Amino acid sequence: MFDKVMELGVDGMTISPGYSYAWAPDQSHFLKREQTNALFKEVLGPLRTERGKKWQFNQSVFFLKFLMGEIDYECTPWGNPNYNIFGWQKPCYLLNDGYAKTFKELIDTTNWDNYGRKSGNPRCQDCMVHCGYEPSAVIDATRNLKNMLVSIRPLS
Ligand code: SF4
Repeated sequence: MFDKVMELGVDGMTISPGYSYAWAPDQSHFLKREQTNALFKEVLGPLRTERGKKWQFNQSVFFLKFLMGEIDYECTPWGNPNYNIFGWQKPCYLLNDGYAKTFKELIDTTNWDNYGRKSGNPRCQDCMVHCGYEPSAVIDATRNLKNMLVSIRPLS
């Protein structure tokens, strides 16, 4: 599919794994975290070959490595806030623990410690979704010069 999409002339692709979020009507067919890692290791493996180097992702290599299970990150739930007709959704677009009227209210009144894998929140345990983990990858990618250099090169 990635070969075909690139042939269509897109500038870049965005990928993210699904997981059994509470609103999903079918809970039984989603992958657990370890299964997601195994799948992405297989799917993104060609990134380290000539064929895969032609694939362009609008995402940090660090996030792709995270999907492949090569790096572990904690969620950064405030990194991609969701705003819709109801307001700012707490804490992310996958969970719905209420809405804030303003961005400041979202930041100030959300108990961020309740979210992410380490929090123990059962709703977050199998989540590896871009809205929470891509910001963590981007923070890591800009942490130091070495990581910045890794970011601008193809996956090695
Ligand atoms: S891990 Fe982060 S992105 Fe995923 S559901 Fe929990 S708060 Fe949202």
